[in-house]
Amino acid sequence: MPHTQLLILGSGPAGYTAAIYAGRAGLNPTLAEGLQPGGQLTVTTEIENFPGWPQGIDGNELMQNMRQQAERFGTQILPCEAVSVSLDARPFHVGLDDGSEWTADSIIIATGASPKYLGLSDEQKYMGQGVSACATCDGFFYRKKVVAVVGGGDTACEEANYLAGLASKVYLIVRKPFLRASQIMQQRVMDNEKIEVLFETTTLGLYGENGVEGAHLVHRKGEPDEKQYDLPIDGFFLAIGHSPNSQLFSKWLATDREGYILTEKGSPRTSIPGVYAAGDVADPHYRQAVIAAGSGAMAAMEVQKLLLQ
Ligand code: NDP
Repeated sequence: MPHTQLLILGSGPAGYTAAIYAGRAGLNPTLAEGLQPGGQLTVTTEIENFPGWPQGIDGNELMQNMRQQAERFGTQILPCEAVSVSLDARPFHVGLDDGSEWTADSIIIATGASPKYLGLSDEQKYMGQGVSACATCDGFFYRKKVVAVVGGGDTACEEANYLAGLASKVYLIVRKPFLRASQIMQQRVMDNEKIEVLFETTTLGLYGENGVEGAHLVHRKGEPDEKQYDLPIDGFFLAIGHSPNSQLFSKWLATDREGYILTEKGSPRTSIPGVYAAGDVADPHYRQAVIAAGSGAMAAMEVQKLLLQ
């Protein structure tokens, strides 16, 4: 059975930064990439707020750079996802989807978060046939077409702007009478002639013969002036936030109601010594690449303290 001093699960900014720090500390870390190598930043557009790139940097390029930096300091990167864990006693046991079983003196969980869906049966029905949770992955298919983006946060505004560069028209479906996004993102939406914001609007379902042809919407649901109507669209993009990828660990580690792994205040330490959680899987508040990277560094420093001092 292969053994490692440190097994890092996940390859977003938290995982790679943990690997860089642990590698430089001589811990020879092993990193299992997970389902989405490079994490969420590989499916976003340009990153404008990661310090050090005054002109912005493409998400894929940023993650490639982090990967190379992790490898430079001796990280072994496995193209695998963790499918089972046992955190009863050290060394911990982790099963990977290639069938291998690893033991590890310490684990950093940096498995991130995945996009949320509204929970409509039509989302499943039209998945890949007009429904998507990733504008940068699927936007290409909607050139000169009409699409809708659901959500009022930074992600929704960013996706709406991105899609407006391809589609002929973008509706932004927002359940509240205002956007939650940062001022700069709101302004970009408001300034874009192709984007129309539908405030106080919720989606009841989707329709179409061979793929999405439209959405059943309701304006001011439950109010005296409630109005239901159908909006013809070709694509329906979800941008309503994320859920933490913590299911595998929920038997062992305490989580909050939404599933975010609970750590000691201001630290990546979980309730099990030797197991740390870094990045979005443990961060319901900030969910920023730079913060994930910072918490990955903290987790690696904790491992260093545990194993080397
Ligand atoms: P947020 O949680 O910030 O926003 C989610 C949005 O989806 C809200 O408008 C919310 O509505 C709406 N929503 C949630 N559930 C539903 C539902 N069931 N039906 C309809 N609407 C729903 O998530 P984001 O992914 O936008 O952002 C997450 C974090 O990442 C934030 O901190 C954000 O700042 C950051 N981010 C930063 C970027 C940047 O700096 N360029 C880019 C992208 C993200 P309501 O407001 O009513 O709750």
